[in-house]
Amino acid sequence: MPRCNAAVESKMDSDLAKIYAVTGSASGMGHAVVERLRQQGHTVVGVDIKDADVVADLSTAAGRRAAAQEVLTACSGKLDGAVLAAGLGPTPRAERRITQVNYFGVTDLLEAWRSSLAKASRPKVVVFSSNSTTTVPVVPHRAVRSLLEGDPDKALRAYKFYGRAAPAMAYAASKIAVSRWVRRTAVTPEWAGAGIRLNALAPGAILTPLLERQLATPAEAENIRRFPVPIGGFGDPRQLAEWVVFMLSDSADFLCGSVVFVDGGSDAYFRADDWPRAVPARQLGSYLHRTRRFLNRTSP
Ligand code: NAD
Repeated sequence: MPRCNAAVESKMDSDLAKIYAVTGSASGMGHAVVERLRQQGHTVVGVDIKDADVVADLSTAAGRRAAAQEVLTACSGKLDGAVLAAGLGPTPRAERRITQVNYFGVTDLLEAWRSSLAKASRPKVVVFSSNSTTTVPVVPHRAVRSLLEGDPDKALRAYKFYGRAAPAMAYAASKIAVSRWVRRTAVTPEWAGAGIRLNALAPGAILTPLLERQLATPAEAENIRRFPVPIGGFGDPRQLAEWVVFMLSDSADFLCGSVVFVDGGSDAYFRADDWPRAVPARQLGSYLHRTRRFLNRTSP
């Protein structure tokens, strides 16, 4: 096919209305994403615990299985993209629900949807992380490791000694674990190799019902307002929705396994010199090993 025809075909393809699944569609940033995608003429299957096309409780394995299946039925087995925005903030005494929704509510659904995403042309997935991943101190490594190993009970035991800070630890650990899962998974043959682009967005404090609930508690409000945000104020959910829509668009074809921080500068303020960082000498062995493994994998 001549070059210009291929370009026209690809443009037409990208202009077609697509079908997306969005979790957390009833409120905040998930809702703003749904509105924006529908304005653009796309079909959205919203998933939430209330007020959604698919009503499901993502804090239980049964709820996640039902949600995954209902979305697959609604999209007839082919999904152009997914946005995983359902999540709980650091709510008191909710460590288990935070863990289940914020981590397994992403990984279980995406594993169930992977083959339907692979059937689409230029499929994209955006997972909501948080700048808590890099700005909350002393999050227990054991919890993050346990989540990545699929053991939520072990993760929950790691928060026992944190007292009132346990929900904040569960929240940050769930977001660190889900971000690592995104980075590890995005680059595999099953995802990158199948043409699926998987990335994460890490917002700072965005003025949504989640943040409003935190601001309604005087002690939490005080902590939030004292937290360093170099540009000041809170983010706007509609602006974050624009980032998501961009990360779902054809312009994001080369984005893979990235965690994009949109947080008013807090991550840069606390962690300016931590990243990017050269591979340290002690990791040279595994770096070379991964290079060789990749070359073997892709050689004809
Ligand atoms: P929000 O509370 O406005 O919306 C979250 C949605 O998730 C709600 O509609 C809620 O019903 C849904 N949800 C919660 N538990 C559920 C369950 N068990 N099953 C199904 N759905 C459930 O929050 P938001 O601020 O729009 O947050 C969206 C995402 O962004 C979350 O993952 C959150 O952790 C993350 N985030 C938010 C902020 C912020 O400041 N708002 C900052 C960083 C990251």
